[in-house]
Amino acid sequence: MPTYQEAAQIIKNASHVTVFTGAGISVESGIPPFRGENGLWNTYDPIFLDIRYFHANPRESWQVIKEIFYDFFGQAHPNAAHLGIAQLEKDGYVKATITQNIDNLHQDAGSIEVYEYHGNSRNLICTSCGQKSPASHFDLNLLPPLCIRCSKILKPDFIFYGEAIPEPAMSLSFQETEQADVFLLVGTTGEVMPAAQLPHIAKRNGAKIIEINIEPSLYTQQITDIFLQGKATVAITNLLEAIEN
Ligand code: NAD
Ligand code: ZN
Repeated sequence: MPTYQEAAQIIKNASHVTVFTGAGISVESGIPPFRGENGLWNTYDPIFLDIRYFHANPRESWQVIKEIFYDFFGQAHPNAAHLGIAQLEKDGYVKATITQNIDNLHQDAGSIEVYEYHGNSRNLICTSCGQKSPASHFDLNLLPPLCIRCSKILKPDFIFYGEAIPEPAMSLSFQETEQADVFLLVGTTGEVMPAAQLPHIAKRNGAKIIEINIEPSLYTQQITDIFLQGKATVAITNLLEAIEN
């Protein structure tokens, strides 16, 4: 049975630890995941996040987007797992965090090197001229929000189904993955492509895979070296303690 002490030892002996997070790390901040128990897709239709649907029906898409990502996500604060990862970066153990989340909670917790594979909900981007502006500058009771430069429709600056992974986040995440000798997975199913490939690439390059999740994921049997089963807040707190003592 692998222990926190073993995981801690691997992290202490490593030269390049990269963290890779999914929606599970933010569940204890009150943000539900898309999939699984209490998943948002049990309540909402994912079509509202399809880029073609959005272009054809911006107002309808925006009504749902506002409800999920702005009325609701906007209230969330970083939890002990986000804070623990920021502390590990500050202490020099973690080099960078690649996140699939769009909630900005790693940055709110104090992490500096954060690569947002799917973008960020805090900004809006113009579908015509590309201008970015903070979502907080807009009254989202008037939908859809319009670009201050060209008056065309704004969308959240995270990727919708059917869109490409943004640059430079994609290239930086690949570089980061190739350098890692330890890859620490937190709260991710391994089902969301192409992000789900990154841990496999790390493993092929010889990285040790440490995984935190409340239940086994697609990675657990295939590539995980040490599986720490539990909630992200509890597991990261235990790991931090084991590393620092
Ligand atoms: P995911 O791959 O991110 O899976 C969520 C995983 O978290 C599951 O494996 C689940 O077992 C695990 N989990 C749940 N609660 C946990 C806890 N307390 N501690 C540790 N692990 C826990 O899949 P998804 O939810 O379908 O999300 C897909 C994509 O949608 C994400 O990658 C992201 O781009 C976006 N999304 C983002 C947010 C956010 O920004 N917080 C929330 C929902 C979805
Ligand atoms: Zn514009």
